[in-house]
Amino acid sequence: MPSLDNLIGGQWRAGQRYTRNTNPSDLDDVIGDYAQADAAQVDEAVQAARQAFPAWSRSSIQDRADALNRIGDEILARREELGTLLSREEGKTRAEGIAETTRAGHIFKFFAGECLRLSGEKLPSVRPGVEVDITREPVGVIGMITPWNFPIAIPAWKAAPALAYGNCVVLKPADLTPGCAWALAEIISRSGIAPGVFNLVMGRGSVVGDAIVNHPGIDAVSFTGSRETGARIAQACAAGMKKAQLEMGGKNPQIVLDDADLDLAVDLCVQSAFYSTGQRCTASSRLIVTDGIYARFLQAMRERMAALRVDNALNRETDVGPAASADQLEQDLRYIELGKAEGARLVAGGQPLERGARGHYLAPALFADSTPQMRINCEEIFGPVAAVIRVADYEQALAVANDTPFGLSSGIATTSLKHATHFRQHSQAGMVMVNLPTAGVDYHVPFGGRKGSSHGPREQGRYAREFFTAVKTAYVRA
Ligand code: NAP
Repeated sequence: MPSLDNLIGGQWRAGQRYTRNTNPSDLDDVIGDYAQADAAQVDEAVQAARQAFPAWSRSSIQDRADALNRIGDEILARREELGTLLSREEGKTRAEGIAETTRAGHIFKFFAGECLRLSGEKLPSVRPGVEVDITREPVGVIGMITPWNFPIAIPAWKAAPALAYGNCVVLKPADLTPGCAWALAEIISRSGIAPGVFNLVMGRGSVVGDAIVNHPGIDAVSFTGSRETGARIAQACAAGMKKAQLEMGGKNPQIVLDDADLDLAVDLCVQSAFYSTGQRCTASSRLIVTDGIYARFLQAMRERMAALRVDNALNRETDVGPAASADQLEQDLRYIELGKAEGARLVAGGQPLERGARGHYLAPALFADSTPQMRINCEEIFGPVAAVIRVADYEQALAVANDTPFGLSSGIATTSLKHATHFRQHSQAGMVMVNLPTAGVDYHVPFGGRKGSSHGPREQGRYAREFFTAVKTAYVRA
């Protein structure tokens, strides 16, 4: 069984203990044993990053662009192999794993270009003879803490801009899925980037994540994960006066209006709710449907769901893989029981499934006749479980959609330009989709939400520079 170590100051360093990474589609398939760092190793990683920072922050932008391009090229060249690893450790289908890996490669190549495009401003001063320069500088050493559901794309979309703008990195991936982050670190270690610029420390959040967040040598923390952990990290960062960027959960609404194209509406609801086993922060688990189409929508959803193939993520025919872990499956089943107890009507799926190998399989579940107040419509389930809420009209649909402490993404299926336009303007979400699933975004534009879903500047695209650079204003007497 391979043992995979932490990357600290350019050295592969053994852990005191190792986490066994297993395949949720086949619990007998062991991917490897991954080192667990402790607080002392986090300290070493931060020290290595601090030592590397002066040279890296002043390095040639051409050298940085070349290194990021090499990383992106290698990820793209190995997308099938890395995508398969991703599906093996996380459980999303192989097609989804390859697509996520491809996205990670594109992100590095996008930020290779951004290395050469960082611009400033020059303004006249209100004082005669004085000029003002506004420039952006690297922030310093960035701590990164990532979740299990996008094990290569999220480390990539945090690390690529951090490195492009001259920062050093200490990354802690989720303990459940360290394999892709390890593979990414291995690629980065051969890219020509100096030792210590990028460090990988694996292990539990309560140990490794906590040590990063509270380390005085960390200047900023970029976190993606649950709202509860995010709130704790925000408090620690405020106490340590660290810059913080938090991307958290969602309870994303998908509206279907009477005038929607039914086939399209069903297609995007099935994708939003059940693809990637519903384990996407942008997944939709609240389907808000108007009276006139409600019965037809339910019938069509049940027919489409009956055709969904739930099986081993590596099988070519699989539409929906297993839950990522036993804990996640248990949480999904708890919410299904809760939905029934609350009086929602389970009209499809919801039962654990047995497949060829031992795995965390669940038939995607659909509730009908649910109300906005039910806990299944208020709390993030993070599995293939969706509930349909019946509403009278667009106005009620919008009010229900916005009535949530989250605000990541939202969607509407309609052929009405008037309602699509109004929804784009009045939906309280960071990302709004018209006739598209709530999940599935481009890599070159900003990503993030409002309310309890996000805190701090946006990730991805050119907007990423807001978090990964510090603004300096210089006054010069000519
Ligand atoms: P999580 O439990 O909050 O964990 C996220 C990361 O934080 C993991 O690496 C975890 O370590 C670490 N962590 C846990 N406790 C910590 C602590 N006390 N100090 C520092 N770090 C700590 O979330 P998850 O279950 O992995 O991921 C699912 C959540 O992520 C969902 O809520 C989903 O919506 C959200 N998400 C949001 C986005 C977005 O962009 N908005 C994208 C993807 C996912 P462990 O290794 O111990 O778990």
